[in-house]
Amino acid sequence: MLGHLATRHGFYDTTPMKKTLIIVDVQYDFLEGGALPVAGADAAYVSAVERIRPFFHQEILTADNHPQEHVSFGTFPPHCIAGTHGAELAIEPGQTILLKGESPDADEFSAFGGGKNCSKIIGDEVYVIGLAGDYCVKQTLSDLLEFLPGKKLFAVTDLIKSVDGSEYGEIDYFSEKVHFITSADLF
Ligand SMILES: [Zn+2]
Repeated sequence: MLGHLATRHGFYDTTPMKKTLIIVDVQYDFLEGGALPVAGADAAYVSAVERIRPFFHQEILTADNHPQEHVSFGTFPPHCIAGTHGAELAIEPGQTILLKGESPDADEFSAFGGGKNCSKIIGDEVYVIGLAGDYCVKQTLSDLLEFLPGKKLFAVTDLIKSVDGSEYGEIDYFSEKVHFITSADLF
């Protein structure tokens, strides 16, 4: 009866929910000193990200991987150009890395647009962290809400940094459908 507890009323399943961690774009160009630095994304931030990784059953990393010319370079400075140091992950690579933004003419803030890659997510609970909160993290959460409505979604606010420097979760873009927590809630 591993994973089950006897109660007066019978048995109920205590098998813990499977947890997936999605780490969005923790790449050198988005860190302090990079081509498109995000406020608060420094060495301490990277260490804090590494610290929570062992608490999950699965992790999926996403990474911007742009060609030399990309449509987003009108809005943003050129960043994460394939093959450059700036495009490299600033954390240890994981078993699943999803590259995005590879097509010159298409913006691709999320690796899950149109439901793409959603079948790779095994967790019942999905936790999202990364960069940048107001662009790629926001779009990732929006896509997961739309295409995986059965999952419980969490944004770990202290591990999400935004270009505009705002605290994540101050504005709820998700009509209360995403749970805002901090990394302290995970330990
Ligand atoms: Zn980009």
